[in-house]
Amino acid sequence: MNHQAPRSGPAARDATMPTYRDAESAAARLAGVAHRTPVVTSATADRLLGASLFFKCENLQRVGAFKFRGAYNAISQLAPPQRRAGVVAFSSGNHAQAIALAGNLLSVPTTILMPLDAPAQKVEATRGYGGRIVTYDRYTQDREALGRELAEEQGLTLIPPFNHRDVIAGQGTAAKELFEEVGELDILLVPVGGGGLISGCALAASVLSPSCAVIGVEPAAGNDVQQSVSRGEIVRIETPRTIADGAQTNAPGAITFDIIRRLVREIITVDDRQLVAAMKFFASRMKLLVEPTGCLAAAAALEQVLPMRGRRVGVLVSGGNVDLARFCALAGQAD
Ligand SMILES: *Cc1c(COP(=O)(O)O)cnc(C)c1O
Repeated sequence: MNHQAPRSGPAARDATMPTYRDAESAAARLAGVAHRTPVVTSATADRLLGASLFFKCENLQRVGAFKFRGAYNAISQLAPPQRRAGVVAFSSGNHAQAIALAGNLLSVPTTILMPLDAPAQKVEATRGYGGRIVTYDRYTQDREALGRELAEEQGLTLIPPFNHRDVIAGQGTAAKELFEEVGELDILLVPVGGGGLISGCALAASVLSPSCAVIGVEPAAGNDVQQSVSRGEIVRIETPRTIADGAQTNAPGAITFDIIRRLVREIITVDDRQLVAAMKFFASRMKLLVEPTGCLAAAAALEQVLPMRGRRVGVLVSGGNVDLARFCALAGQAD
């Protein structure tokens, strides 16, 4: 399917549909810059579920999440004048860190809009990578409008966290690496916020493992994408309250919604208690520190939200940025 609009400048290009080709070129740009993260297995998880699980560890990616892939891919394609002026991003954390680091590596100044209540570690890390931080209230202010305002006032290029061709193509390289390493899969479970990661992963699956069922996992309290898919149109929800802070999105974007509708088999949900259980499983059984949002796909697997017996299942572990204090508080909760 080819949805490409006529190309008449950078903005028009950003709004076009990415294809697997774009993920391939993203992989070439990211080679030697992003980590090729490990794929780990767990005999305990396999035994529990009677399946073969392959965990793609993007918690071990640069900045601690897959978002570095999309951010670097997007910034590296800006024209010289856009690079000189700089970019602006809005984010609850990981996209911010990713833009700040990618900008730093590519010598592009970055301005990051972050919610007042963003986890301290994420704010500090973003500042540490050289991003200029502007705060807003996520429950009362519209970050997209603020981002557009800043972009116009200061001539910056806005790089959104998910609804962007080059961001999606970059995120798709995570699944591309997974399929290249372990071969075809029956199921691929992917955390879903605004749907950038799963869109890129679905593009990769459609070529590298065409019969694989790509399944998205959202927080139960914030199932905007699940609702959108079942209604057949983009549904906007109030900012959800969930410990999965990387998936507190209000709605999918036009591009991600279109790809999800075409290429994603189903969207399922897990609740915060299930996320905590998965976080503990990662820490105690697999020696991995995974943030709550990063546990979405694994929680769905461990809770057997769908039948997996005898299947080869890819689990995207999307990020590992959680304050140690917050991790301890969550892990200390009773099962
Ligand atoms: C951003 C993020 C997600 C959600 O990604 P989308 O592209 O918005 O669907 C999932 N996990 C982590 C750790 C993230 O940072």
